[in-house]
Amino acid sequence: MYRVDDDERALFRASLRELVEAEVKPYVAEWETAGAVPRSLFEKLGTLGYLGVRLSERWGGSGLDFRHTVVLVEELVRCGSVGVAVSILAHAEFATKVIDRAGTDEVKDTFLAPAIRGERIGALAVTEPDVGSDVAALRTRAERDGDDFVIHGAKTFITNGSTADFVTTAVRTGGDGHRGISLIVVPTGAAGFSRGRKLAKLGIPSSDTAELFFDHCRVPARYLLGEENDGFRLIMQGFEGERLVLALISCAQMRLMWEQARSYGHERQAFGQPLLGFQVWQHRLADVLTTIEAAEALTSRAIDLYVDGASANAEISMAKLFAGERAHHVAHECAQIFGGYSVMEEYLIGRLYRDSLGFTIGAGTSEMQREIIARTRGLVPERR
Ligand SMILES: Cc1cc2nc3c(=O)[nH]c(=O)nc-3n(C[C@H](O)[C@H](O)[C@H](O)COP(=O)(O)OP(=O)(O)OC[C@H]3O[C@@H](n4cnc5c(N)ncnc54)[C@H](O)[C@@H]3O)c2cc1C
Repeated sequence: MYRVDDDERALFRASLRELVEAEVKPYVAEWETAGAVPRSLFEKLGTLGYLGVRLSERWGGSGLDFRHTVVLVEELVRCGSVGVAVSILAHAEFATKVIDRAGTDEVKDTFLAPAIRGERIGALAVTEPDVGSDVAALRTRAERDGDDFVIHGAKTFITNGSTADFVTTAVRTGGDGHRGISLIVVPTGAAGFSRGRKLAKLGIPSSDTAELFFDHCRVPARYLLGEENDGFRLIMQGFEGERLVLALISCAQMRLMWEQARSYGHERQAFGQPLLGFQVWQHRLADVLTTIEAAEALTSRAIDLYVDGASANAEISMAKLFAGERAHHVAHECAQIFGGYSVMEEYLIGRLYRDSLGFTIGAGTSEMQREIIARTRGLVPERR
């Protein structure tokens, strides 16, 4: 925790910490092996009001601002499995926030309210086997047929893909480019929807990642979010929150690794003294802490702008870029002090090291963040 909580957030943090300690941490190893967090966790978090933190009160959410999401992310990461935070946030932010923002009352009643209660699990599907960073080029096609859309195509790398009950899906409803894209909610029971492989990953094993297929999948046209062909704007708006979540996860995970390294450095003896008796380790961990605090400061600035409704695209990208990239370095530094134990499965540091690998990819790669910074900070020459 690096931001000062007001009384309400402090209370929110304390009860969440208790819950994570008692109901999440003891089961993390089991979920890492199973390759997914259980439905019962969504149900428990939903019952206690943690899945609708900044979603509308009318549909059962708490209507709070992103500063409460900060607490949610930080406390979930403390369970020691980044995959848990990724699964929960993919549902409670990525898949649902846009429904809250752009869905009709019927769509909110059908998908958002049960998602907030933890009764239905959501996923957001934008990425395709042949299209990732270049969202405007996506190919999954939705054709209007009477009162329905008929969807044909495939998605990949979808968090919660094999467990989701509904998928907030990016489809092409118009011509080429970003103006032809829409967002539609697909119930996973719809005819023509199927799931592919659950993908095995190098890190965050407790977060389920899957392929999805749409084979002339028929979905009521009224499940469209916002206006037809306005999906690209909604996706980009959503990316701001997603990138902040990723920056926050990176910061929280770096803190946890640093705390682990500091404890181990005090305990482990070598040449007759604790490892932290050697100045080289004091200085190395001092450098690591400085890096973490720089990442936290950038993230904090971006959060303040975002919560105030200011334009924060570049600041969010800077936070995500720096925190995500530095997490790799911090993971290496913190793991090194553990010597051989750093690569043993039973040590938390090894798991955290492995989990840091995806931070420079998910919710937009580091290169895409640099693109945004370059474009918004006058680094791209005008075409003559
Ligand atoms: C664990 C995990 C969970 C995910 N969850 C989801 C999810 O729930 N929903 C979802 O829709 N997606 C999800 N993704 C997908 C993720 O958003 C994409 O992987 C990411 O956007 C990159 O797309 P890509 O993998 O197709 O890479 P590509 O776009 O093919 O890029 C490959 C490489 O080329 C670089 N590159 C591409 N274009 C440029 C350029 N113009 N200039 C310079 N470099 C460039 C990229 O930065 C990258 O290094 C997830 C990914 C991971 C790893």
